[in-house]
Amino acid sequence: MKTKKFLLTTFGCQMNQADAQRIKGILLSLDYSEVDTEEEADLIIFNTCSVRDHAEQRLIGRVRSLAALKRLKPELLIAVAGCMAQHLKSGMLKMLPMVDFVFGPNDIEELPELLKRAKLGHALGKFLKKGAFDGETADGIVISRPFSAMVNIIRGCTNFCSYCIVPYVRGPEVSRPLEDLKKYIKDLAAKGVKEITLLGQNVNVYGKDLGMKEGFATLLEEIEQIEGIEWVRFLTSHPRDFTLEAIQRISKLKKVCEQYHLPFQAGSNRILEAMRRGYTREKYLELIKNVRENIPGVSLSTDIICGFPTETEEEFQETVDLIKQVRYESAYMYYYSPRPGTKAASMEGQLPDEVRKDRLARLIEIQNQIGREESVKLQGKTFEVLVESEASRDASHVYGKTRTGRVVDFEGDSSLIGKFVKVQIEQTRNWTLSGKLIKR
Ligand code: SAM
Ligand code: SF4
Repeated sequence: MKTKKFLLTTFGCQMNQADAQRIKGILLSLDYSEVDTEEEADLIIFNTCSVRDHAEQRLIGRVRSLAALKRLKPELLIAVAGCMAQHLKSGMLKMLPMVDFVFGPNDIEELPELLKRAKLGHALGKFLKKGAFDGETADGIVISRPFSAMVNIIRGCTNFCSYCIVPYVRGPEVSRPLEDLKKYIKDLAAKGVKEITLLGQNVNVYGKDLGMKEGFATLLEEIEQIEGIEWVRFLTSHPRDFTLEAIQRISKLKKVCEQYHLPFQAGSNRILEAMRRGYTREKYLELIKNVRENIPGVSLSTDIICGFPTETEEEFQETVDLIKQVRYESAYMYYYSPRPGTKAASMEGQLPDEVRKDRLARLIEIQNQIGREESVKLQGKTFEVLVESEASRDASHVYGKTRTGRVVDFEGDSSLIGKFVKVQIEQTRNWTLSGKLIKR
């Protein structure tokens, strides 16, 4: 019987979700069980994001709100992990004195030691810049759905897009060696995992640091041979590094799902250059054409930033024009948030808040309309769905995802969870689709 309880809250991207798999695995191997409320917890960990100011402000608010609880229960430990921790290091303790310990994404294996030290006073991780994959095993992670896991294939980022904090906090690109990855994924399959999502800030350069050429396509070809793994997804792709050769090789693989997340960020060539993205609008559109020609039924999504320093209304309209041209099923859209220490934060021509927010609101409205129209086209079609969970709004329903990553809700019971079924789409509600079970 475990005597201690932890609550883990994760903000931000899928890398953080993957780190959460490891943090949970370590805590559960110690004397800890997981709980859902702050009041029950002996240890509260925030796994943070620093990509936008908004994410940081939310975290600060959440931690400050724990001051009263900490006064009532002085033995409660509060920890901050993830990108914001790596960025601020001991500054985190100065800003939020109720925090007991702070550690970065490359300190996760040190968690048992940090816990011991935190009981004696404030503790800090080593905050090593360069991540390694040592010590990460399929047994050492906890996945919320036993049939689906995230797999980090490459850590860090060496691109230094001018707006982005990630290379400063996550360090340079380090690929996980191919043989090591194959073993890890085989171990996951042996545990019953059927679907994996390969993760990296730029998966397309997987293996480059190990001397591989088209290493990403090679990795996917190797995973195709692993028995038990049925579906493979990946993100994020960098448009500059996704070659036609890779697309053609991937198109031959049955397990790789038709879901491509291809962030374009801005539609104007001048802004793309200022962002240091390394491609033009024309090159990006050629990539979209290549993907659509080689991957039938592909679903496309993207990331967009509007209101980058000096962006004019005409340049913003080039972004609008691009989403109208490509017609993504979905998009993550943000207004530019200056990140201290990045090149763009010190550029002249920062735009007022109202301009950035107004552009974002207009962009969201247009993309939502496109998304709804694309969803309607799916009505009547039948998709294979991997059932994930019972639907929270209706106990007689379950939901799962199609190969294209679309969420589908339909009538069914919990015996379907973890199984592949066929579902015909009947109705569409923005991003979520609902349908009826055709075949178990
Ligand atoms: N590596 C991925 C790529 O290159 O597309 C994405 C990494 S980043 C964590 C996720 C998204 O956050 C980016 O694609 C970008 O749209 C957005 N983002 C990053 N820095 C930002 C900033 N300073 N302001 C607003 N959005 C930002
Ligand atoms: Fe940030 Fe660019 Fe690296 Fe993506 S590729 S993580 S946007 S620096």
